[in-house]
Amino acid sequence: MTDDVRQEIRSVLDAVVLPHAEVWEQQGRISADGWRALAESGLLSLPHVGPGFRRSAVFLEELGNTGYAGVRAAIGVHAYMAPSYLRRYGTEAQRAAWLAPDKIAALAITEQNAGTDLSSLSTVARPDGDTYRLTGEKFYVANGSAADYFVVLAKTRDGGTTRVLSGASLFVVDGHSPGITRHRQPMLGWRASDTCRVSFDGVAAAGVIGRPDRALMYLMPALDFERLVAGLLAVGGVRHCLDLVRAFVRSHRVHGDVLSANQAVRHRLADLDAQFELVRTFAHRLVEDHCAGRLDTKAATVLKLTATELAVSAAQACVQYHGARGYLDDSVPARLYRDAMAGTIAAGASELMRDLIFESGR
Ligand SMILES: Cc1cc2nc3c(=O)[nH]c(=O)nc-3n(C[C@H](O)[C@H](O)[C@H](O)COP(=O)(O)OP(=O)(O)OC[C@H]3O[C@@H](n4cnc5c(N)ncnc54)[C@H](O)[C@@H]3O)c2cc1C
Repeated sequence: MTDDVRQEIRSVLDAVVLPHAEVWEQQGRISADGWRALAESGLLSLPHVGPGFRRSAVFLEELGNTGYAGVRAAIGVHAYMAPSYLRRYGTEAQRAAWLAPDKIAALAITEQNAGTDLSSLSTVARPDGDTYRLTGEKFYVANGSAADYFVVLAKTRDGGTTRVLSGASLFVVDGHSPGITRHRQPMLGWRASDTCRVSFDGVAAAGVIGRPDRALMYLMPALDFERLVAGLLAVGGVRHCLDLVRAFVRSHRVHGDVLSANQAVRHRLADLDAQFELVRTFAHRLVEDHCAGRLDTKAATVLKLTATELAVSAAQACVQYHGARGYLDDSVPARLYRDAMAGTIAAGASELMRDLIFESGR
């Protein structure tokens, strides 16, 4: 992608995100006007596959580079993670009904006792005429209070616990259906991501996504894509954080000299920068792989793990070198630090990523 494309995307984000992001953080979600402006900008309907995904990749990186991880999570879920199931496995009619950039999307997979271990899933979907009725409770659902539709994972067949996902299905649920209750679940970070506990009490699904009982088959490739998206967002976040701390150590004086005069400081930031260059280069390789239709599980998992863990290390250095001013609750380094921790849990904890990498090891 050319620098012109990057610049064009940055200018849109400068206009539609940055002036409002602080308010969205405080309100715990992107405002309705914000969603509208984002939808009108065209950035919420960029390609998920093929060469056009390069534009998405630049967008995701630059969205991360705004430094607002709550905003980036809300948009990532809305424009990529939730709709990817409908784009890949939905019918033409489902895509026409739900995939409008101004219909806010949410992904409701996790439950109180089913996060890493989805075999403990307890939300059920029972056949009812030509539809299914869903009963259960989902946790930590980003965009939960504003979602126009949910992509929900539920059990459609009772069975053993080890391979329960072979009897689970994915549903699209109209967010305005009777029987849905939403409770805000404010988090330590990602504050603009509108995380909620969402209860479904006999809610009629708008449709099954793909074939019933096949969720496992659909989740696997979609999760690879989710990791690529999470990795690209985190790469942008690391860049933002490193730019901030580098500028600070070059201007902040201790004992009469700028902090960057200390070799220890320079070397720590150089190490982070070196890791950043490696992760970013790897991310760009995966973008090319994905554009060519050959994104591989191990590579996507490596990217998600390394990019989100690097974000934690970068945020730690950022707070440390800012001293107490970076530990103030309303400071930017404090926000980056809080936000970075979410990246190593959401979309699959780092330990799960390590297990997957080990299992697929050579
Ligand atoms: C900010 C945020 C936003 C989220 N948004 C959404 C959303 O929109 N939709 C949705 O469905 N879910 C969402 N989630 C949930 C997320 O996907 C889960 O938190 C994640 O899958 C981990 O599940 P859990 O939190 O239940 O942790 P558990 O599965 O209970 O694990 C707890 C901890 O145990 C450790 N652990 C797990 N497995 C292993 C292992 N094999 N070896 C060693 N240690 C291990 C890890 O440190 C892990 O964090 C979000 C989470 C966060 C934090």
